[in-house]
Amino acid sequence: MAGGQSLVPLMNMRLATPRHLIDLKNVAGLSDIAMSETSVTIGSMARQRQIELSPAIRRACPILAEATTHIAHFQIRQRGTIGGSIAHADPAAELPLIALLLDARIVVRAADRKRSIPARDFFVSTFVTALDESEVIETVVLPRLSSGEGWAFEEFARRHGDFALAGVAATVTLTGGRYSGARLAMSGVAATPVVLPMAERLLGEEPSRALYRAVAAAATADLTPESDIHATGEDRRDIACHLTEIALAAATERALHSTDRSAG
Ligand SMILES: Cc1cc2nc3c(=O)[nH]c(=O)nc-3n(C[C@H](O)[C@H](O)[C@H](O)COP(=O)(O)OP(=O)(O)OC[C@H]3O[C@@H](n4cnc5c(N)ncnc54)[C@H](O)[C@@H]3O)c2cc1C
Repeated sequence: MAGGQSLVPLMNMRLATPRHLIDLKNVAGLSDIAMSETSVTIGSMARQRQIELSPAIRRACPILAEATTHIAHFQIRQRGTIGGSIAHADPAAELPLIALLLDARIVVRAADRKRSIPARDFFVSTFVTALDESEVIETVVLPRLSSGEGWAFEEFARRHGDFALAGVAATVTLTGGRYSGARLAMSGVAATPVVLPMAERLLGEEPSRALYRAVAAAATADLTPESDIHATGEDRRDIACHLTEIALAAATERALHSTDRSAG
């Protein structure tokens, strides 16, 4: 158990009935945040509120801090952790989406071994991850955004604090007025967060509204989100398409007015 913000509701509803609960709260060093020249290493027990308010994370990986502000309400973020959210692997959750977008490494430890799993291999299906029963997440290692990299996080929820119907995260880099790098990922549209290779269509092009629209349409055309009590699959796809246009425009704007994110 980390903050209990997903596990305790599951136990209340008898969807989880563990025979033993081990509280990770008192394990020393599990909530540290450390910066290097190239990466941000966050202990699995770092609280979401701690991440959201960290000036160092705001500088080095602002998309992570911004996405975290969209999780539930601050009372939940006060107890919820990065490790708990990633281990829980809700397909609509914000932190798995950012981990996937940036291809974070999930460092996991068992009594006798340690391994580092790329986020692209970590999320297997809804609430299913590559974690073995004997393993806990120790740290999450994310790359720093490079200087000049623009970013955006957009999501739509019916009410403030609800899980989003869909979320979109994007980073872009421009060289000489044309895209030289682009990453795009979405949540809420499949059993896991997904990376959209369509972002590559931006490469070599100049920014324009028509381009954002074309990439958003191409990125979402083949998605088949499930319908549920919150929204139809079609609605989720339309929302994801619209959010993609907004995110590409916002990320581009930031890239054009970027600030230096060198180590510090
Ligand atoms: C009303 C409400 C609204 C919410 N809205 C959102 C939302 O909009 N977006 C969102 O992303 N989340 C939302 N959440 C979930 C919240 O973000 C939780 O913080 C998150 O899901 C994980 O909770 P936790 O860190 O307390 O982990 P816990 O609930 O303690 O644990 C969750 C699961 O992860 C496992 N686990 C925990 N830590 C580790 C570890 N270090 N290694 C291995 N396994 C571990 C546990 O065994 C358990 O299976 C909401 C929760 C509530 C109650």
